Amino acid sequence: MVLGKSPAMPDAGGAHSGYLITHAGFTLLLDCGAGVFAKLRQYADPARIDAVLISHLHADHMLDLVPFSFALGAGLVGSRRQPPLWAPPGGVASFAAFADAVGMEDQINHGFWVREYDPQRELKLGPLRIRFASVPHYVPCYACDLQEPTGRRLTFGADCGPNDGIVRLAKGTDLLMLEATEGPGPSVATSPRGHLTAAEPGLIAHYAEARRLLLTHYSDQLDAAELRRAAERAYGGQVELATEQARYVI
Ligand SMILES: [Zn+2]
Ligand SMILES: [Zn+2]
Repeated sequence: MVLGKSPAMPDAGGAHSGYLITHAGFTLLLDCGAGVFAKLRQYADPARIDAVLISHLHADHMLDLVPFSFALGAGLVGSRRQPPLWAPPGGVASFAAFADAVGMEDQINHGFWVREYDPQRELKLGPLRIRFASVPHYVPCYACDLQEPTGRRLTFGADCGPNDGIVRLAKGTDLLMLEATEGPGPSVATSPRGHLTAAEPGLIAHYAEARRLLLTHYSDQLDAAELRRAAERAYGGQVELATEQARYVI
């Protein structure tokens, strides 16, 4: 379920990056940007989140770890257990520096059991096997491929510029979720690129032979029909656009 799909400037009434993934009673929150915790409270029980995984440390992917941690640590959501929070390498020190800067010790560590994943190795969370790929962005950033025991897969590109790593990671995936932050037109971004135009996810999905492509992390100021057309031309098939509260069954 999409809790939030906004890029850096949130959609009107929207939330930043946050996706709820459930399988066989296991619930994973993938990214936790600003506004995501309020959405989570609307649609799920925060105390029942089994793990949190963060793609990278930009604010639009992790800022709501602060209220989530507070709610967990203070027992406000019915549980004082600390779910594991899997951060990218360097996450533990970054969270500590952030807490120090705002004068609130243990701001994130209070509610979560904070761990760092090793993007070179597979991570097992409940029934899910997770592989990572480093993708080009303005800070270290990791795409991830989630696979359940019977082989069904969701691949999330995180924030990224054009790259081959995501094609390799996503090869043959069932659902490929890619950002389209730069919109339908040709890129006007300066090099090195850190985001995709709508045609680029289409090309990545085409080369990865993904069964379905879901565009996300695009602004409500963009023309959704144009985005879809640009992506479909490159993909050679139907493309879906993520919307908040939408559920996708793989
Ligand atoms: Zn982002
Ligand atoms: Zn980012």
